[in-house]
Amino acid sequence: MKTSRIQAPTGMHDILPDQQKGFQRIHKVCENAANFYGFGKIDTPILEQAEIFLKGVGASTDVIEKEMYILRTKGGDVLALRPEGTASVARAYIEHGMFNLPQPVKLWYWGPFFRHERPQAGRYRQFWQFGFEILGDQSPVIDAQVIQIFYGILKDLKFKNLIVEVNSIGCTHCRSYYKKLLSGYFRSRSVSLCSTCRKRLRENPLRILDCKEEKCQRIIRQAPQMMDHLCEECKKHFKEVLEFLDEIDLPYNLNPYLVRGLDYYSKTVFEIFSVPKSKEEESLEKKSALVGGGRYDTLIRRLGGRDVPGCGGAAGIERLAGFLQEGPEPQKNADQSSQIFIAQLGDMGKKKGLVLINKFKEEKIQVAESFSKDSLKTQLGRADKMGVRYCLILGQREALEGTVMIRDMKTGKQETVKMDKVVKEIERRLKK
Ligand code: AMP
Repeated sequence: MKTSRIQAPTGMHDILPDQQKGFQRIHKVCENAANFYGFGKIDTPILEQAEIFLKGVGASTDVIEKEMYILRTKGGDVLALRPEGTASVARAYIEHGMFNLPQPVKLWYWGPFFRHERPQAGRYRQFWQFGFEILGDQSPVIDAQVIQIFYGILKDLKFKNLIVEVNSIGCTHCRSYYKKLLSGYFRSRSVSLCSTCRKRLRENPLRILDCKEEKCQRIIRQAPQMMDHLCEECKKHFKEVLEFLDEIDLPYNLNPYLVRGLDYYSKTVFEIFSVPKSKEEESLEKKSALVGGGRYDTLIRRLGGRDVPGCGGAAGIERLAGFLQEGPEPQKNADQSSQIFIAQLGDMGKKKGLVLINKFKEEKIQVAESFSKDSLKTQLGRADKMGVRYCLILGQREALEGTVMIRDMKTGKQETVKMDKVVKEIERRLKK
């Protein structure tokens, strides 16, 4: 009798003790970032009602149409092994009435995900991801901050030659016009497209922009670009995201062909790559982003919730672990609650606020901020509730003069100091 070899299912793998070290290192860096930026951890079930992904991610996306594991329970429920994390987080946000909490709500997750993909290097059917999501804030500074968080995590893991690719895919209004334009363009050239793209032409012409086939690439290079057809509001949003990224010196490339495969995205989308350094790395890295994400302002509504905007991203842990460089173990941040709150006013203040947060992060000093609350009174009120010792106020004037106002929350005394001296000054005061 022939005995079949017992082994892990195709595309799924064990994480052996040697590999656990890399996973643990990544986890520690994520936890540090989550604590620093004030994200709470969420674990959602591995099984969800399939409907959540059908409605949220979109029924005609590859992830849902071709790759989702679906099962029917004995009770007749149709459940899916979660193929991604954002829709589950959005479901939890609605289910637990998180719109009643102070906004934005910041959540992070870590766990296994499942996609029935063709197994190949760097692509598994069970793989691990971590993700960071910010719900309830539509400001472009949030998009920049999400990118900054992932970029910072990769830096802390000693990844070099990082490049962020960004694009805007507009909102439902401007995208529907662009889709029509794109359909017309590709339809007149459909005989020259690959068979998958001919199918995409009927279902979602945007996905054609993703195609890596050389014959499609030639046509894609001449196609109309979303960037030229954004509505005023989306154009302004994207311009501001890029200005924030410039302010924090984060290197990025505009990639007009980046669309990401999920229906819930709107406005900003991004991916982060590590540029290959050697031939062996090249074949794998060239194809695969380490991180992907974007804004999803319609997701919560798609799932039956209110009109709540969101922005986030996810990273593939096996991919990161595969390229980890040997380095010193990251130290766990001391669990400290913030003594500092950064209050900012206006665009200039927000920009400088992002830079200042980075400076405190480098010195491992915990800070809290609230980019969404525009009035100073609201921000000071929040800082007071948190019981912080000092509030750093960055208004238009301070931003222009390169200064920061330090407000002692106990005494109410305020003092203006130079921006490049403020971290040292706070360190000195906290040591007292
Ligand atoms: P996505 O959820 O498709 O945006 O993917 C986010 C990140 O997860 C990617 O940049 C990859 O690093 C990782 N990832 C996605 N699919 C897989 C897979 N099948 N196997 C391993 N890693 C994956």
